[in-house]
Amino acid sequence: MNALLRDACLIGGEWLSGEAWLPVTNPATGQVIGRVPEFGADETRAAIEAAHRAFPEWSARTGKARAAILRRYFDLIVAHQDQLAELLTAEQGKPLAEARGEIAYAASFIEWFGEEAKRVYGDVIPGHLPDKRLFALKQPIGVVAAITPWNFPAAMITRKIAPALAAGCTVVVKPAQQTPLTALAFAALAEQAGVPAGVLNIVTGSAARAIGGELTANPIVRKVSFTGSTAVGAALYAQSAPTIKKLSLELGGNAPFIVLDDADLPAAVEGAIASKFRNAGQTCVCANRFYVQDGVYDAFVALFAEAIAKLKVGNGADDGVTIGPLIDDQAVAKVELHVADALTRGGRLVAGGRRHALGGRFFEPTLIADAADGMAVLVEETFGPLAAIVRFTHDEDAVAAANASEYGLAAYVYARDVSRVWRMAERLETGIVGINTGLISTEVAPFGGVKSSGLGREGSRHGIDDYLELKYLCLELE
Ligand code: ADP
Repeated sequence: MNALLRDACLIGGEWLSGEAWLPVTNPATGQVIGRVPEFGADETRAAIEAAHRAFPEWSARTGKARAAILRRYFDLIVAHQDQLAELLTAEQGKPLAEARGEIAYAASFIEWFGEEAKRVYGDVIPGHLPDKRLFALKQPIGVVAAITPWNFPAAMITRKIAPALAAGCTVVVKPAQQTPLTALAFAALAEQAGVPAGVLNIVTGSAARAIGGELTANPIVRKVSFTGSTAVGAALYAQSAPTIKKLSLELGGNAPFIVLDDADLPAAVEGAIASKFRNAGQTCVCANRFYVQDGVYDAFVALFAEAIAKLKVGNGADDGVTIGPLIDDQAVAKVELHVADALTRGGRLVAGGRRHALGGRFFEPTLIADAADGMAVLVEETFGPLAAIVRFTHDEDAVAAANASEYGLAAYVYARDVSRVWRMAERLETGIVGINTGLISTEVAPFGGVKSSGLGREGSRHGIDDYLELKYLCLELE
């Protein structure tokens, strides 16, 4: 029994359970591992009002005082890394080693933004008239709604609540219905760390429209921070329009992974494996389409297939497993559909291609070479363990293909010639470019996309600005 398992929601400093329950299942086994309250619009409103009541006192504290609490919170998360990782793997499916990595990554945002809380500087602006003195203050926006997905049940929450709490905002979090247990465990540790009643509230439930409807319509909420699909992000954007809320949207991606002919191929393959198959391909920065230059195409395909053969599919809780199950049956069906579509359109199957012999939600890591325009896998995010490779000749062709997407989150480029890479990186229409690396996420850098991939940046010294308003003071001297 995991000591951090909770079956109630923290709202206004109370742990509330409901009359109706939402079961939580382990995607590797299909077993029910816990239950959480099935809350809706009423409980969401109560949470928003609790956050509103808590705001004046929390926002009036000094940055240093908030930082001290966030430091304790960080220490508690680190101290409970194993328990949190077990819970995360049980409800989400990723291998335990990845879950431990995610907990450390999640904690890093609490540490980073706790430190930033003390450095929210405004401006003293040289006046435009001799008797005028001008200032710009940065102040917390107010009550924040955070809506998070299931693929990073811990990190997607801390990436939002850390800058919000550091800035002096209070928060209502709606975690994904598939992974609410990690969210509740994080709330329990926040409470232990001394985050005051009402400052952090969690509302669980499967009625995403009802909960999201209240979070977006309620005028008390001044900001919505969402990570998830572009379709839902666009709906939340529209729903937030009547009350003119600020939005941070971290939406879908369709990351191109470009390998130029002077690349270090073993390094490119290592990066491709890390970027494509982490979390079984279920991350928004996962490489989705590979563009490999003529001269190294065959060698890259062969090395990539060799590396894929070493991946081990299974229950994430078991030793040595590198690919867990997909989150649900629909996710498996989507990968299957993308494979079938690519093969009917002339793709060449190099590895995998089917549901895994383990059954359930397991899918074989799959490689399809000779992918071409018109295939669904090149247009839509597969969000599964399928890599499709396209051959190209000129650098410009790769840039044009990479940019021919409505999405613009991450791109990856492998090459040794720095000038060539730099030119390409400047022209790629994405918020992030990984150069000779497949792993780009860190709390110290700005993470976010352009085009239909979203608005705003999370992490880095810029991340806290998304939770602050600028107030301009104009003083006329007597
Ligand atoms: P994913 O494909 O990652 O599940 P979604 O965009 O469907 O992406 O879900 C991300 C988060 O948004 C989840 O917490 C989900 O419950 C929530 N969500 C889904 N639909 C809505 C909606 N209409 N209003 C508010 N939140 C929603």
